[in-house]
Amino acid sequence: MTADADARIARLLHHRKAGLALGEPVVPPISVATTFHLPEAQGAAHYYGRSGQPTWDAVEAQLSILEAAETVAFPSGMAAITAALVCSLKAGAKVMLPADGYYVTRLLGRDLLQVYGVEVARVPTAQMEVEDFTGFDVIYIETPSNPGLDTVGIATLARKAHAAGALLIADNTTMTPLLQRPLDLGADLVVAADTKAPAGHSDALFGHVAGRDPNLMARIREWRRQSGSVPGPFEAYLVHRGLETLEVRLTRMCASATVIAGRLAAHPKVRGLRYPGLPGDPSHRSVGGQMANGGFLIGFELADEAAAEAFLARCPLIEQATSFGGVHTAAERRSRWGDAVAEGFIRLSVGVEPVETLWSTIEAALAA
Ligand SMILES: *Cc1c(COP(=O)(O)O)cnc(C)c1O
Repeated sequence: MTADADARIARLLHHRKAGLALGEPVVPPISVATTFHLPEAQGAAHYYGRSGQPTWDAVEAQLSILEAAETVAFPSGMAAITAALVCSLKAGAKVMLPADGYYVTRLLGRDLLQVYGVEVARVPTAQMEVEDFTGFDVIYIETPSNPGLDTVGIATLARKAHAAGALLIADNTTMTPLLQRPLDLGADLVVAADTKAPAGHSDALFGHVAGRDPNLMARIREWRRQSGSVPGPFEAYLVHRGLETLEVRLTRMCASATVIAGRLAAHPKVRGLRYPGLPGDPSHRSVGGQMANGGFLIGFELADEAAAEAFLARCPLIEQATSFGGVHTAAERRSRWGDAVAEGFIRLSVGVEPVETLWSTIEAALAA
């Protein structure tokens, strides 16, 4: 981690301290109240649970430290993405979405945005830098993209988008604010699924929008109130707890991913290996610049569907599950969800298992 990231993670761990009175709990209580004592209508920190409540405040305070920006918490990554797009588009507007991005975001473009009169253009992540942005209101990126792990220059796209009068929204889920800082590079909004590495234990759905334009962030907060797209207090507590160990988990996961990607790349049964951290990967140019490291996601192909399924079934330390960023190493064949990848393509999310133990099971499963 950079010195700047170190400072943010230290502040995050102690963010409640300055506000604590003698004898108050160190960790935030799970506040389940929907109503708050309100003899006066004005001046209270909270008045109704759909508008705001103390456990959200705690996790938003942490996320704001990580993002160095205002953040609004949502009940899932998709709720955050919906908020960002609804608040920055209207009927007749034009948005560019990644053709190779998260598949539910693509469905949202088709089934919500287009239905409500927004024009949607789909462009592969790797081609966005050379695309003409004239006439667009929003450019939406995902870098590295899920699951293909292609990248796009965030600063270049921010300059191009702003020159065309468009906003740049970045889905930062695959990197987290510790490994990549789209707002510092000119993005107008960051959206993220905190369900993944930030919560980190496969037990909470959560998301957030971050941004530095107070007017835009006020619209996002108001959208949450009007749409009722509100996170639960228990999930907010779990994400608060998860964020406290995010840096420790990421350090292990990314270091292990580097080791495993290098060995997979050299394995005779593995083809088309993608890991941005490996020199020679098409996304490697982004590492060390906008990406702090290659991350914890690896993509690779085995011969066909049967070979990939057999490998996944044989490896005792790979959880056969969708989603990524958790403490357990997990993998799946992405074509089962309709992603435009080969039948034998596997997305591997490296967890926190000791790396040599993990590798020995992967190697044995490949050999069988
Ligand atoms: C998982 C994911 C989402 C959606 O997050 P949910 O919390 O499942 O709604 C959005 N974008 C990317 C890149 C993701 O991986």
